[in-house]
Amino acid sequence: MLNLQCTKCNYRFSKEQMPKRCPYCGADGTLKKTQSAQDLLDSTIAEQAMIDHEREARHQK
Ligand SMILES: [Zn+2]
Repeated sequence: MLNLQCTKCNYRFSKEQMPKRCPYCGADGTLKKTQSAQDLLDSTIAEQAMIDHEREARHQK
C-alpha cells in the first residue's frame, strides 16, 4: 500500500498503485509518496537499534 499526497491540494490517501491523477482535484503528476506514522515509527526504531549496536561495538574495543 502506498501513502500518497497531492502537492497541489494536499489531499492524502492510500492506494495499491500510484494513480496518474489526484482523485480529489484531478491534477496530473502532483502526487508524491508520503510516510505513514507507522513507517516513521519503524524507521526511528531501526535507527535507534543501529545507534545502540554501534555504541556497543565501540565499547568492546
Ligand atoms: Zn490534488
